[in-house]
Amino acid sequence: MKNLSVYLEESIFQKYRDALIAAIFTFGILLLGIVNIKLTIAFGKPKLDEKFTKKLRDITGDENIEIYSLNNPKFDPNAFFAGGKSLYYTKSLDKMLKNEEELIAILLHEFGHYKGKHVTRNMVTVGVTFYATIYTILKTTKNEDPIVKMLMFLLMQTGFNIATLPLGRYYEYFSDKYTVQYGYHKHLISALKKLEKYIRKEMCKNMSKEQCDQTIENLHALDEHPVVKKRIEAVLKEKAKKDRLGENYKKKGFIRRWIEKAIGEI
Ligand SMILES: [Zn+2]
Repeated sequence: MKNLSVYLEESIFQKYRDALIAAIFTFGILLLGIVNIKLTIAFGKPKLDEKFTKKLRDITGDENIEIYSLNNPKFDPNAFFAGGKSLYYTKSLDKMLKNEEELIAILLHEFGHYKGKHVTRNMVTVGVTFYATIYTILKTTKNEDPIVKMLMFLLMQTGFNIATLPLGRYYEYFSDKYTVQYGYHKHLISALKKLEKYIRKEMCKNMSKEQCDQTIENLHALDEHPVVKKRIEAVLKEKAKKDRLGENYKKKGFIRRWIEKAIGEI
């Protein structure tokens, strides 16, 4: 018996030790992500918005979708999809827009994240890159100083964040297309302009216009949301495409439909 346990410890456990520790770390970080989202929603004082749920269902034909308002006045104007079938918007977004169609446009953008299964895909990306980071550190730094390990962790994670940024941007452009598909592109454009104005007002107190432009640009450099100007350009381009293709705009081949069933719309 002793031999067996020694064998197990020395061979299997030793062999897969690094992989196992990396997997446990990764599971932990994904769990923390989920807890963070759940807490955000709980602190937001969510309430099912029957009016907008009905509106979104009527527009998209999707009978599963649910819209919740987050009524905590401390929350900034925002909307998000957090996995499952629920979309959230903050009451301060509603207050800032003061326009029902613009709010629908923003919710249609979030609907795009839902159709694209972007939360699941993001979790896979975070999981894989986190695992790769921890596993590499365990494999390559055996007896090194914790500071070295920490630096390596920060460096690798930053590298992965930058490398996966185009994916996040793609999801944003992808989701904007849903407002075009359902005819709400004009409302998305005006909502985006209002949002940018709000951000400028909040961030650029006592700044010159140039300083403010620079601050906004820096902010977007590491954010998955492209600058508003580029998003508007892309939306207008998509609208032209929709007009050009007419009936064929949303036609999809068999293979594409099959892939989309598995990984979400592409
Ligand atoms: Zn988005």
